[in-house]
Amino acid sequence: MSECIPETWKELHDLQGRIAQWQSQYFPAAEEWELVLGVCEEAGELAQCVLKMKRGIHPERYNAERVKDSIGDVIVFLIGICIQRGWNIGEVLSDTVEEVLERQFHERRIPGLAIGDTKPSLKVGDQ
Ligand SMILES: [Mg+2]
Repeated sequence: MSECIPETWKELHDLQGRIAQWQSQYFPAAEEWELVLGVCEEAGELAQCVLKMKRGIHPERYNAERVKDSIGDVIVFLIGICIQRGWNIGEVLSDTVEEVLERQFHERRIPGLAIGDTKPSLKVGDQ
Protein backbone atom coordinates (compact mmCIF):
# COMPACT_ATOMS: atom_id res chain seq x y z
CA MET A 1 0.00 0.00 0.00
CA SER A 2 1.17 3.48 -0.81
CA GLU A 3 2.63 5.55 2.01
CA CYS A 4 0.42 8.52 1.11
CA ILE A 5 -2.86 6.79 1.90
CA PRO A 6 -4.47 8.33 4.98
CA GLU A 7 -4.59 6.04 8.02
CA THR A 8 -8.37 5.86 7.96
CA TRP A 9 -8.32 4.54 4.41
CA LYS A 10 -6.07 1.68 5.40
CA GLU A 11 -9.22 0.24 6.90
CA LEU A 12 -10.60 0.19 3.38
CA HIS A 13 -7.58 -1.83 2.33
CA ASP A 14 -8.37 -4.36 5.07
CA LEU A 15 -12.00 -4.48 4.00
CA GLN A 16 -10.90 -5.00 0.42
CA GLY A 17 -8.85 -8.01 1.51
CA ARG A 18 -11.84 -9.52 3.29
CA ILE A 19 -14.12 -8.89 0.31
CA ALA A 20 -11.50 -10.44 -1.99
CA GLN A 21 -11.55 -13.64 0.07
CA TRP A 22 -15.35 -13.69 0.11
CA GLN A 23 -15.52 -12.98 -3.62
CA SER A 24 -13.06 -15.74 -4.52
CA GLN A 25 -14.93 -18.19 -2.32
CA TYR A 26 -18.46 -17.50 -3.55
CA PHE A 27 -18.05 -15.79 -6.93
CA PRO A 28 -14.73 -17.02 -8.34
CA ALA A 29 -15.90 -16.74 -11.94
CA ALA A 30 -17.62 -13.35 -11.67
CA GLU A 31 -16.87 -11.16 -14.63
CA GLU A 32 -16.41 -7.42 -14.49
CA TRP A 33 -19.62 -6.70 -16.37
CA GLU A 34 -21.56 -8.56 -13.68
CA LEU A 35 -19.99 -6.42 -10.99
CA VAL A 36 -20.68 -3.25 -12.96
CA LEU A 37 -24.32 -4.25 -13.34
CA GLY A 38 -24.35 -4.95 -9.60
CA VAL A 39 -23.28 -1.35 -8.99
CA CYS A 40 -26.10 -0.15 -11.23
CA GLU A 41 -28.66 -2.40 -9.57
CA GLU A 42 -27.72 -1.25 -6.09
CA ALA A 43 -27.60 2.40 -7.17
CA GLY A 44 -31.10 1.87 -8.54
CA GLU A 45 -32.20 0.53 -5.17
CA LEU A 46 -30.72 3.61 -3.53
CA ALA A 47 -32.60 5.87 -5.94
CA GLN A 48 -35.81 3.92 -5.40
CA CYS A 49 -35.46 4.22 -1.64
CA VAL A 50 -34.82 7.97 -1.67
CA LEU A 51 -37.72 8.50 -4.07
CA LYS A 52 -40.13 6.46 -1.93
CA MET A 53 -38.96 8.30 1.18
CA LYS A 54 -39.53 11.65 -0.53
CA ARG A 55 -43.05 10.54 -1.45
CA GLY A 56 -43.74 8.99 1.96
CA ILE A 57 -44.38 5.51 0.55
CA HIS A 58 -43.90 2.49 2.85
CA PRO A 59 -41.73 4.24 5.43
CA GLU A 60 -41.30 0.93 7.22
CA ARG A 61 -39.43 -0.36 4.14
CA TYR A 62 -37.89 2.75 2.67
CA ASN A 63 -35.94 4.54 5.36
CA ALA A 64 -32.47 5.70 6.36
CA GLU A 65 -31.37 2.16 7.20
CA ARG A 66 -32.19 1.05 3.68
CA VAL A 67 -30.33 4.02 2.23
CA LYS A 68 -27.31 3.03 4.29
CA ASP A 69 -27.59 -0.59 3.15
CA SER A 70 -27.82 0.42 -0.51
CA ILE A 71 -24.77 2.65 -0.22
CA GLY A 72 -22.84 -0.21 1.34
CA ASP A 73 -23.94 -2.59 -1.40
CA VAL A 74 -22.76 -0.17 -4.09
CA ILE A 75 -19.38 0.13 -2.39
CA VAL A 76 -18.99 -3.65 -2.08
CA PHE A 77 -19.50 -4.03 -5.84
CA LEU A 78 -17.11 -1.15 -6.55
CA ILE A 79 -14.49 -2.77 -4.35
CA GLY A 80 -15.08 -6.03 -6.24
CA ILE A 81 -14.23 -4.27 -9.50
CA CYS A 82 -11.05 -2.85 -7.94
CA ILE A 83 -10.08 -6.34 -6.77
CA GLN A 84 -10.45 -7.76 -10.26
CA ARG A 85 -8.34 -4.95 -11.70
CA GLY A 86 -5.71 -5.25 -8.99
CA TRP A 87 -6.38 -1.74 -7.74
CA ASN A 88 -6.35 -0.59 -4.16
CA ILE A 89 -9.71 1.00 -3.33
CA GLY A 90 -8.02 3.41 -0.92
CA GLU A 91 -5.72 4.70 -3.64
CA VAL A 92 -8.55 4.97 -6.16
CA LEU A 93 -10.68 6.89 -3.69
CA SER A 94 -7.81 9.03 -2.46
CA ASP A 95 -6.81 10.06 -5.99
CA THR A 96 -10.37 10.96 -6.92
CA VAL A 97 -11.12 12.79 -3.70
CA GLU A 98 -8.01 14.93 -4.17
CA GLU A 99 -9.17 15.82 -7.69
CA VAL A 100 -12.70 16.61 -6.55
CA LEU A 101 -11.48 18.80 -3.69
CA GLU A 102 -9.41 20.83 -6.14
CA ARG A 103 -12.43 21.74 -8.25
CA GLN A 104 -13.63 25.31 -7.94
CA PHE A 105 -17.35 24.84 -8.48
CA HIS A 106 -18.34 28.28 -7.23
CA GLU A 107 -16.40 29.96 -10.06
CA ARG A 108 -18.21 28.08 -12.82
CA ARG A 109 -21.55 27.66 -11.13
CA ILE A 110 -24.68 28.25 -13.19
CA PRO A 111 -27.58 29.26 -10.92
CA GLY A 112 -30.39 26.74 -11.03
CA LEU A 113 -28.27 23.93 -12.34
CA ALA A 114 -26.19 23.06 -9.30
CA ILE A 115 -26.89 20.24 -6.86
CA GLY A 116 -28.79 21.73 -3.97
CA ASP A 117 -30.63 24.35 -5.98
CA THR A 118 -34.30 23.60 -5.51
CA LYS A 119 -35.65 26.16 -7.94
CA PRO A 120 -34.09 26.94 -11.26
CA SER A 121 -33.44 30.66 -11.41
CA LEU A 122 -33.07 30.68 -15.19
CA LYS A 123 -35.78 29.94 -17.69
CA VAL A 124 -35.38 28.89 -21.27
CA GLY A 125 -34.56 31.99 -23.25
CA ASP A 126 -32.97 33.80 -20.29
CA GLN A 127 -29.42 34.91 -20.85
MG1 LIG B 1 -29.30 -4.23 -2.04
